[in-house]
Amino acid sequence: MLNSKIAVVGAGVSGLAAAVSLVERGFENITLFEARREAGGRTRSWLDPATGDVLDNGQHLLIGCYRATLAYLESIGSLKQLERRRLSLDFHESGASTSRLELQNQGKPAVNLLGAVWKSDLLSFKEKCAATWLGIAIHGSAVRNARSHSAIELFKKFRQPDRLIRRLWEPIVLATINAPIHEASAELFINVFREAFLSGPDASDLLIPSCGLSELLVQPAIDFIATRGVHIRRSTPVRSIEHSSGSFLLKFDGGEENFESVIYSNTAKEPLPERIRSSIPEFQFSPIVNAYFWLDRRVLSGPIHAMVGTTLQWVFPKASQYSAQRLALTVSAAGALSEKSNQEIEDVLWNDLKMAIPQMKNVRLLTSQIVREKRATPLFTYTVQRLRPSTKSSIPRFYFSGDFVQNGLPATIEGAIRNGYAASAALLNEISHSTSNE
Ligand SMILES: Cc1cc2nc3c(=O)[nH]c(=O)nc-3n(C[C@H](O)[C@H](O)[C@H](O)COP(=O)(O)OP(=O)(O)OC[C@H]3O[C@@H](n4cnc5c(N)ncnc54)[C@H](O)[C@@H]3O)c2cc1C
Repeated sequence: MLNSKIAVVGAGVSGLAAAVSLVERGFENITLFEARREAGGRTRSWLDPATGDVLDNGQHLLIGCYRATLAYLESIGSLKQLERRRLSLDFHESGASTSRLELQNQGKPAVNLLGAVWKSDLLSFKEKCAATWLGIAIHGSAVRNARSHSAIELFKKFRQPDRLIRRLWEPIVLATINAPIHEASAELFINVFREAFLSGPDASDLLIPSCGLSELLVQPAIDFIATRGVHIRRSTPVRSIEHSSGSFLLKFDGGEENFESVIYSNTAKEPLPERIRSSIPEFQFSPIVNAYFWLDRRVLSGPIHAMVGTTLQWVFPKASQYSAQRLALTVSAAGALSEKSNQEIEDVLWNDLKMAIPQMKNVRLLTSQIVREKRATPLFTYTVQRLRPSTKSSIPRFYFSGDFVQNGLPATIEGAIRNGYAASAALLNEISHSTSNE
């Protein structure tokens, strides 16, 4: 039964998770196709020759509620690379003193978040009351009909003051959904809130990797599946998939091969069988701009710094081989910024840092790197959110995986890995079902 010949198309974390899970379920005849020379897709890292530091294609935040990710890392043997810390955020705003939001993770999850909000001086009394009201509504069922709203419509419906939106909700929406608040799906915000803050005492913990994304998520998975017989075909974009008589003919440069089952783990529509091509909507993609700044002295401590009222949104202090401190800087939903030159981006972000963080005053910027990801994530507005395809296609034994597949989560590592597992489970289920009926 588990000899079914399976093709996994796309070796991002979702395709890798599907392959890992298929191996764990006992499947023995798997080929993984990847268009590029390297696996990893939108999670990758490299050694920067100029500084000797390993750089990611952008800062990726992993948190305690990433259950599938944790299981995946355990399977491939890289769980030990994660350090778990309580969520602690420093907020910086020009002309204001730094505020800290710190979760203690004692008692019930909801109490943790609200406790942190009430202890912090980030918000006024009135804003804390409003935040609590929304938190209670999300905890209960008062947020019905969110499916047809944007995040800003949800905030307005629950009378959230502008300053509260700007200081707390907007940064969360940008960081997790990578969409402006007037476009982001409210349903996704609610689901993120429930998973990160209401699903367990450790759900909002930060999981901080001690290595680059490739070393954490990609290479160990490749090693895991390769040593268990998965045939990995790099630099092999699948050009077309034809379905007839219960099998799939995959065509690629220089060859073609038949498979009994397919897990399709990327958003390219062209290779899909005609009948299911329209399953994947015409996604727009939302860019993320990342920068690395190497400084002549150590200025910031703590894992994460949120910036309020600037183009720059998040700052992550890092150790460096090259200088006293490296800062990883992130701007999500960065449409306009991503069109600027590297020098212009550096100027904008450097000015923002200097303006909002007084300790930056006499610091020297030694060197920088800008990383633009123009197609960082699909833009999940509330309309698009409803159009995401499900794991199972209308063709038997053809499954979708990838962060774009419907699971109620934004396009994240966790969503991508959950969908890889879901595709593998659905395939096993279908095969078991069809053999028990024979
Ligand atoms: C800058 C940035 C920051 C991010 N920050 C976070 C974060 O903080 N937290 C978080 O959880 N997530 C974050 N994400 C999102 C996360 O990286 C993605 O959701 C996840 O990597 C998607 O994985 P995937 O496997 O679904 O897709 P992909 O990584 O896109 O993988 C698809 C793969 O399919 C391959 N492929 C395409 N067409 C073909 C073909 N015809 N044949 C063969 N192969 C093909 C591609 O080359 C690619 O390798 C971020 C993303 C970016 C870019």
